[in-house]
Amino acid sequence: MVRKSKNRFFKHSGFVALVLSVGLVACNSNDDDDGGTTAGTDITTTGDGTASFGVPAADSESGFSEGVVTAAHPIAAEAGAQVLRDGGNAIDAAVVVQFVLNVVEPTSSGIGGGGFMGIYQPETGRTFFIDSREKAPEAATATQYLNCEPNCTGEETRDDRLGSFTDIATSGLGVGVPGTLLGAAHALENYGTLSLADALAPAITLAEEGFEINERLATLTESERTSFWPETSAKFRTADGEPLSEGFLLVQPDLAKTFRLIAEQGTDVFYTGEIAEAIVSAQMRARDTIGEKGVGRMSMSDLAAYQAAGIDERDPIVSDYRGYTMNGMPPPSSGGMTVAQILECIEQFPLGDAEQGFGAGTGQTLHVMVESMRLAFSSRSVWMGDTDFVELPIEGLTNADYLAPRCEQITTDARIEDDAVLPGDPRDFDPAFTGNNGANITNAVDGEVGIDTTHFSVIDANGNVVSWTSTIEGTWGSGITVPGYGFLLNNELTDFNFEPQFNDSAEDFKPGANDVAPFKRPRSSMAPTLVFKDDTFVGAYGSPGGSTIINSVVNITVNLVDHGMSIQDAIDAPRISSGGGSVSYEDFDAGALEALTALGHTLRDEPSEIGSVQAVIVDPVTGLQYGGADDRRAGTVVGLPTP
Ligand code: GLU
Repeated sequence: MVRKSKNRFFKHSGFVALVLSVGLVACNSNDDDDGGTTAGTDITTTGDGTASFGVPAADSESGFSEGVVTAAHPIAAEAGAQVLRDGGNAIDAAVVVQFVLNVVEPTSSGIGGGGFMGIYQPETGRTFFIDSREKAPEAATATQYLNCEPNCTGEETRDDRLGSFTDIATSGLGVGVPGTLLGAAHALENYGTLSLADALAPAITLAEEGFEINERLATLTESERTSFWPETSAKFRTADGEPLSEGFLLVQPDLAKTFRLIAEQGTDVFYTGEIAEAIVSAQMRARDTIGEKGVGRMSMSDLAAYQAAGIDERDPIVSDYRGYTMNGMPPPSSGGMTVAQILECIEQFPLGDAEQGFGAGTGQTLHVMVESMRLAFSSRSVWMGDTDFVELPIEGLTNADYLAPRCEQITTDARIEDDAVLPGDPRDFDPAFTGNNGANITNAVDGEVGIDTTHFSVIDANGNVVSWTSTIEGTWGSGITVPGYGFLLNNELTDFNFEPQFNDSAEDFKPGANDVAPFKRPRSSMAPTLVFKDDTFVGAYGSPGGSTIINSVVNITVNLVDHGMSIQDAIDAPRISSGGGSVSYEDFDAGALEALTALGHTLRDEPSEIGSVQAVIVDPVTGLQYGGADDRRAGTVVGLPTP
């Protein structure tokens, strides 16, 4: 628990009403906790001796002092740790982790994709994000997913799509111009110490010598996405077309060749050379189910333009949660803004206070979380996209006066009716916004999509931190392996609106913030997060999981701040998620889930796994470092010095 946290509970009339009805004495538990204050800081310890913000109890886990690497695969975490042992910094280690993940967790990220790399440098005090998000090619259009093109009227609906989501996602049309390699090279050049060739070396060896695939990868080879395109089934299925078994030695000579070419020739070979040619021709294909219109539109000039434009570094979305400073991912991701909005609503309620019916995993706590998610996701669906292309009222979206009346809709005695969960109008709260001033904002419920991607976090001995979420979008991306080069292409362009939303009528204002446009980046949910307490770094984390990413980051934050869990317990605890429709959930007590249903929520039929969080934490009192990793996948922590 955290002493001195801001508690706005008494401002909330709905909750006071509940307190009276159940006869509880309303008190601020944060002032009453039995933790002790650690000398010299306002960081506290809880009754069981657990220090705040993720630090485990002193006798349960020893900390590290020379760095921690956490990744969703043990081979990748160990490769990153070896870089730190050899004197590399967190940026070097993270880039090595990324290339090794391309080999050992090919389903989730790699040079065929994109991502966001959060960096904190204690030396400069700077926190920022390297944006390697994929871009649409120049020939992309807002109606590219519709049959009507080139004669669309703007009245088209879902029924006018070229085909199913999967058909489009596994055709060239969904493939964005990849950015991961350029982002990694940019990070090394500007903030690392290794050359690109040295950073690729461990991945080259692994791809050449092979590794035994784990249970997760073996299971994922059962996916139909390994069977749609011949190069992918040749690599990830047996000669008979069967899925691979756990322990299968996966040797990837084509991928090793690709990495060698890049090591020798730099990023040029990927963006303007022979690999670029292979990418362009690989995405000129479409599933038979949708035919010619599903062929990718990327050309050599799009890859060259990506490289020529260079990598953007972006400033974080900064918000406060009970005295912790959250640094979240800005546009083109919706991650940072949506996390900030959700936490702003949650902050009205004392989620850590069991005496008032809250506490970890209670129905009341989960209800407040879900309501806050619903409200924030409705705003996300209208107002968020790539700000290099659309003007968005960013300041308004995180303005407390815009959010207050929205958050006040939440009561603990009933679910907000669907037709009252509206995007709201943040424009009036953003003096800099000059865009369309139309009035009526339509409602939109955001479906939760995606289950893949990967997150890894690194801290080095000097306190440099990387929090990197990296993706090829769906599991196996587009399912297209570049022939002869052994890496999967993303299907990131399916993160755009499938039907354009833009409408310039003032009566029916739709900004179309996430409509497809040439060179635009699709709106992401990725939310690599770095957290500070009084300007001191305390933790970094993130998750895969499509739009559930945002909610996983919220779950972790609440577990750390409100429930005083250690980072590992915070990751292990069950998660809840909603994008506005039904509620996804993990293994909560039946009573808590029944309470949600009684309040009017619709739960999915079955529990389902949500996210895969990898984190690093620093105890600001001792300076010791800790890691947390997710065994929902093969998450691994390697800390230094090795005990
Ligand atoms: N494409 C998604 C995004 O950028 C991530 C995919 C996933 O995690 O499933 O938000």
